[in-house]
Amino acid sequence: MLLHKMPKPLRALGELGLIEQIRRDFSAGSKAITLGIGDDCAILRPPAGCEVLVTTDFTLEGRHFRRDLHPPEAVGHRCLARGLSDVAAMGATPLAAFLSLALPGSMLAESAGRAWIERFFSGFRALADMHRVPLAGGDTSESPGGKNGVVLADIVLIGTAPKGEALRRSGGGVGDALYVTGELGGAAAELSAMLRRQRRILHVPTTEGHPHLFPEPRLDVGESLLRRELANACIDLSDGLSTDLAHLCRASGVCAEIEQTSLPIHPLALKLGPKAALQAALHGGEDYELLFAAPASILMPTSLAGVSITRIGSLKKRRSGGPLMTMLAPDGSHPELVAGGWEHFSGPAKRRRKRAR
Ligand code: ADP
Ligand code: MG
Repeated sequence: MLLHKMPKPLRALGELGLIEQIRRDFSAGSKAITLGIGDDCAILRPPAGCEVLVTTDFTLEGRHFRRDLHPPEAVGHRCLARGLSDVAAMGATPLAAFLSLALPGSMLAESAGRAWIERFFSGFRALADMHRVPLAGGDTSESPGGKNGVVLADIVLIGTAPKGEALRRSGGGVGDALYVTGELGGAAAELSAMLRRQRRILHVPTTEGHPHLFPEPRLDVGESLLRRELANACIDLSDGLSTDLAHLCRASGVCAEIEQTSLPIHPLALKLGPKAALQAALHGGEDYELLFAAPASILMPTSLAGVSITRIGSLKKRRSGGPLMTMLAPDGSHPELVAGGWEHFSGPAKRRRKRAR
């Protein structure tokens, strides 16, 4: 595991020492990296005929995780997963990751802080290895605020896709069927259970079955959608189905109707009871599943790369003054579906007004 031959606090190791350890721990070669960690810039070599895609995402203590609640491996995993999921949503292939990290002084001064950062990198690296994503650079700094400083991590993901073929949000058309991968609401359900317990999870023996702590970015599904030309438009579910579907509808200039009884609800969400389960599936964020549109004439497989694919509705013509999204309820009514989201740390199933995340 990273750094574990050097028990000194990180402060004693110094910034250069830490970077050197990161370099050693992430040294697995990649054809795509001409020059990795150690110079002013990395040099990447994208495959011929491909375009380069870039995405960046913050992971902020107090906003996206709590140090008193989340195991550090999960923080590292989720940090990378956020970027990988954006790459997956475009049908792209990850080329390299870059990680900018600000750490509080208290963490640098204590052995316990060092243990935290070691475990953060162990979670980050397990996911990077699984998807063969090299870490090609980043930045390391002390966060402001002294003892009250927080951990701030910014992940940059570089991906590639054949020229002109990346899946966009804007490609959806009237009559397309809407699909989601996997199951919805699991991340919100696991988080609400964690918040109810208010106890730190010390160690998670397996990453499976933890949709909030260890979400699985759907890279293989995204690549397969692109390669097999199975999707017109795609987005990843980071803010919740209702919010992300609204993005896809606006970008594509269409409206959507989803069928309540078709929604694949995660077993952890079902445990909350039918009403809360539906709320979690519709509005719970951070499932990192893919939502995509495809012409209704395409015979969609029931699973791709081992992940289930469920048809949840369709895209319709946008009528002026009409709702952007509706949901066909079991009683046959069609109420408007209003975009909502999940408030991370203010309790379960609390709807919030739309705001940037
Ligand atoms: P510079 O001052 O020229 O920006 P740095 O001293 O910040 O360079 O970084 C030296 C090398 O270490 C660079 O290749 C940089 O990309 C890499 N690096 C710094 N911090 C990290 C990190 N947290 N993760 C990965 N690579 C890092
Ligand atoms: Mg420099």
